[in-house]
Amino acid sequence: MNARFEGSFLGDASRIAADAVLECKICWYGYDPAAGDDARQVPPGTPFTALPDDWRCPQCDGARDQFMVVDAGSAEPAPTIAEQARLLEAGFREVFQNKMRDTPFVNRSLSVEAVGFRAWGERALGVLVAPWFMNMVVLPAPGEDWSRFAAGEKRVFAFPSGDYEFIANARGHVGPYFACSLFSPMSDFSSQLQATETARAVLAALFDDKARDVGDEAGTIRDLRVSELERQRQAEAARNAAPTRRALITGGLAGATGDAGT
Ligand code: FE
Repeated sequence: MNARFEGSFLGDASRIAADAVLECKICWYGYDPAAGDDARQVPPGTPFTALPDDWRCPQCDGARDQFMVVDAGSAEPAPTIAEQARLLEAGFREVFQNKMRDTPFVNRSLSVEAVGFRAWGERALGVLVAPWFMNMVVLPAPGEDWSRFAAGEKRVFAFPSGDYEFIANARGHVGPYFACSLFSPMSDFSSQLQATETARAVLAALFDDKARDVGDEAGTIRDLRVSELERQRQAEAARNAAPTRRALITGGLAGATGDAGT
């Protein structure tokens, strides 16, 4: 949390941690919950949000809503990418245990594993391997609210190798995310290592702009491209018969099925 905001009057009171220090905008008096406020007999340990309603700046009598956060205190920090990836794994291990384990759709030599999750701009990107699918997954940036996307809603993300259609989903503690199907089912994989190596190869190919020179089937997606130069390159590429883009980034491995990327 690095935004400064005024008191509790802009709807942000819930974001003020119990130990956050706030400062009077007029005279720079600081209210530190650890110290309280002797002048008003506010005991140490009183959060800013628990001060009496008529509390004012003890130094200049300034209004309480003129105070700004200067030290956010222990407000919950945004989860790290590694933590987000672990939550994703935990969520899908639960699905495996509760729903998929005894179905014919699973490859029993595989397990749920988040592979190669890294920062992608302010968001996070990686591949989720599971016994019944392999998906590219994009996680929201800290503070980015994707709860407005209904499950199944589509969104295009642009990468150096091309633009890919992702589908909104959400799962328990993971919250909303976007996924692009790479493989489903996973019957062609013989080991977890083979699956995770494929996942890493996909991520590498995703950022390989040479893949863009190969035609793809995503004509409507192309319209979203911002650069005229890129549009020209794509128009030229589309004239050449070539494998689909997804077949390209998945190395043409058999088993790349489904309609993601179309
Ligand atoms: Fe003041």
